[in-house]
Amino acid sequence: MTFDALLLHPSLLAAIADLGFEHPTPVQAQAIPPALEGRDVLGKAQTGTGKTAAFALPILHRLLPASTPRLRALVITPTRELAQQVHDHIAALARHTPLHGHCVVGGDDMRQQEDRIRRGCDWLVATPGRFADHLRRDYVDVGALEVLVLDEGDRLLELGFLPDIQEITSYLPPRRQTMLFSATLPAEMQGLARQLLDSPVRIDIGTTAPPSPVSEEVWPVAARQKFELLAELIRRRGIRGALVFCRTKKRADALVGKLAALGHKVEVLHSDRSMPERRKALAAFRSGKCDFLVATDLAARGLDIDEVGWVVNYDVPSAPEDYVHRAGRTGRAGRTGTAISLMAPNEEILIAKAERLTHQRLASSKLEDFVYITERQSGPAPREHSHKPAAFNTRAASREKKESPFTRTGKARPAYEVPDPEKERQKTKRRRSRIKKRLPHEK
Ligand code: AMP
Repeated sequence: MTFDALLLHPSLLAAIADLGFEHPTPVQAQAIPPALEGRDVLGKAQTGTGKTAAFALPILHRLLPASTPRLRALVITPTRELAQQVHDHIAALARHTPLHGHCVVGGDDMRQQEDRIRRGCDWLVATPGRFADHLRRDYVDVGALEVLVLDEGDRLLELGFLPDIQEITSYLPPRRQTMLFSATLPAEMQGLARQLLDSPVRIDIGTTAPPSPVSEEVWPVAARQKFELLAELIRRRGIRGALVFCRTKKRADALVGKLAALGHKVEVLHSDRSMPERRKALAAFRSGKCDFLVATDLAARGLDIDEVGWVVNYDVPSAPEDYVHRAGRTGRAGRTGTAISLMAPNEEILIAKAERLTHQRLASSKLEDFVYITERQSGPAPREHSHKPAAFNTRAASREKKESPFTRTGKARPAYEVPDPEKERQKTKRRRSRIKKRLPHEK
């Protein structure tokens, strides 16, 4: 099938040609015709299959020929990065049209977003929490809205956005076209689909395995030796341009430090970073200015980073779906890629879960001339110590919560201070020596 056969507006066909798309992908071939007819769509397809264009092309075709100042299409995505990416993709497809849109995500300036919303646009791509915030303030005109898309529906639910989605849809005109795309369709998702979609066309791209040729490798290694093995793999195989996933923000930050100490250019992406920092990190990785992007699962879904040749699971994810999504960051749109998982003994069960989900066996690899230690020799895996700042010290926090700012005698209560560890040590020493002195008398 060709894009011409889909009878899209010529300005969209011109953009498709600019982007070098020759044929519609399966999700596009199946979703575009019914979406052009205005039907609701329930699509089981993961990112990397071309689903953004599958909903964006029918939307733009519908909005043409002219731009109006009223919002006509809304796309809700679970993460800020995905929202930006979807918005950029729609803008690229609309480049030969007069249509324009905005991206509205948390972490950016609310007032600037309000200004843009007030000025009007044809489409908006937004994260649910922030868009609901704007809706509550009464200046968003959704009266002319014709199309709603929920992208990565399962992720929206996992992240607890159901109440926001329900609130948002309560503001929208009931007569509209709704499209819902999701990598998986758990029962909760189907419930939402029943609530929001009217006799939808069902599309199942039906893959739980990474969408394109990805070679998947599992490297068993003691938890303590993970970094050593990773450094050796990087050196021997010349790994660059890799997306490296860690289980926690703290582990991601620690890994960044270790990779940087080896002289690599590394960026980090997780939810403790501000939006400008996250954008900068992604831009540096996309443009090849850094060798590694270390991320938590925030980046596992949705991000379309061209030519990620390598994905490294520094930690195996606990949800097998996340394994699929992480591996899906490489081998996109037909390119080949390699997904490497460093598997500590306690992560074997997680790899087994991923194997069950993807119906495949992942062969274990072993590095020649690398001195492996066993978990026994290595001792227990290093614990992630909590270095919480004073504000997150739970004792201090509960004390702050319980206590009024005044003492019972009406004096201002001095601010609670986290004890100085050195003073505490001295106190303990004094206490111990007092006890020692007392002992002979007790005898
Ligand atoms: P998505 O699943 O929408 O994130 O798309 C994944 C990647 O596939 C993006 O880089 C798109 O630019 C690319 N893509 C989308 N449609 C096509 C197509 N018909 N032919 C080739 N590449 C495509």
